Amino acid sequence: MATERQTQGKVGTWQRGLYEESRESRRRASSKAYAGWFSGLGVNKSTLPEIVKVGDPVLHEPADEVPLEEIGSEKIQKIIDDMIGSMRKAPGVGLAAPQIGIPLRIIVLEDTKEYISYAPRNVTKAQDRRPFDLLVIINPKLRKKGSKTAFFFEGCLSVEGFRAMVERHAEVEVKGYDRHGKPLKIDSAGWQARILQHECDHLDGIVYVDKIVPRTFRTVQNLDLPIPMGCPKPGVVLCED
Ligand SMILES: [Zn+2]
Repeated sequence: MATERQTQGKVGTWQRGLYEESRESRRRASSKAYAGWFSGLGVNKSTLPEIVKVGDPVLHEPADEVPLEEIGSEKIQKIIDDMIGSMRKAPGVGLAAPQIGIPLRIIVLEDTKEYISYAPRNVTKAQDRRPFDLLVIINPKLRKKGSKTAFFFEGCLSVEGFRAMVERHAEVEVKGYDRHGKPLKIDSAGWQARILQHECDHLDGIVYVDKIVPRTFRTVQNLDLPIPMGCPKPGVVLCED
């Protein structure tokens, strides 16, 4: 998932007539990641994998579970390191393995004081956004808790330069395995719960644009412009009963 700083999208590439070329080079990048994974050779060790953009089938199809006996393998450990590197380079607060072209159920996420400082304080307070250390979760199983939901703008590193409102559960529980194969369970609320839902969706082939309030879709530059009439306002949904 994108951070506030991840705002300088390469908007306009297609306007310069480079769209086809760009798409082709990305397809090749994605295919290379696939080829590396399936042949066991890994991608170029000196560079971080490119983040796959929407339209690539790897983002729109369910990912496979990681066999538990393979978590400790060099191959899986390298994928995890690549994911962390690509997320931090973007920078983003979360990344799923399909976003680097790997169809496996692995997510990484972290949020820092620095990232949070890029957003206005009243916004991060409403979002219930607090820093947390790096989390690596393999084969995550997400369970939504309670009925409280919230609408906020979110973005995705695979949909560069855009934001839209998405309704998410305020609290979730995630069970899975850490990078050492040890079972883990996280009870999460607020912005972290949103990131977890966003990243777990990626593993089911769901990109946030599949779930948005349609008329709130906008460029990052237009993020602060008024929300159209009839659309929900950002914030926690108050129960009516
Ligand atoms: Zn995303």
